[in-house]
Amino acid sequence: MATDPTCIFCKIVAGQIPCLKVYEDDVVLSFLDIGPIAHGHTLVIPKSHYPTVMEIPPEVLAAVNQRIPKIARAVLAASGAKACHVLANNGEEAMQSVHHLHYHIVPRASGDGIRIPWNTRDLDKTAGAGLAQAIQAALAS
Ligand code: AMP
Ligand code: ZN
Repeated sequence: MATDPTCIFCKIVAGQIPCLKVYEDDVVLSFLDIGPIAHGHTLVIPKSHYPTVMEIPPEVLAAVNQRIPKIARAVLAASGAKACHVLANNGEEAMQSVHHLHYHIVPRASGDGIRIPWNTRDLDKTAGAGLAQAIQAALAS
């Protein structure tokens, strides 16, 4: 199993740092976020250390994702919410502070005051076509 002795989440997996665990099996560990942005804010992490979705083997990511629906339903049931974000920050520029891939499950309620800025712009059709081609070329290489 990939592990990084300097990683705080690997230390939690190894039992060297405590957590408020909600679920564990051979693939994932799930525990309450120590700095919740909402009541019930929960993390789901692969037990293996991979920094982001760019490094994790697809089959491991698939196994992690397989666990998300049940954990998300339980988090909503316990927190009394009907909606949630399930999101992963990948890289420092994308707000990742712990470099061990993790999903945030963030319960949401109307009027809860949480703001996740998501300022959309219009996609430029010409530039967009070139960008789509560039991504297709990267996928094919
Ligand atoms: P991110 O910014 O996506 O890397 O999120 C990292 C998250 O890990 C933050 O929401 C932190 O509050 C949380 N976190 C950091 N250390 C711990 C810890 N020891 N136990 C539980 N959650 C933690
Ligand atoms: Zn780690």
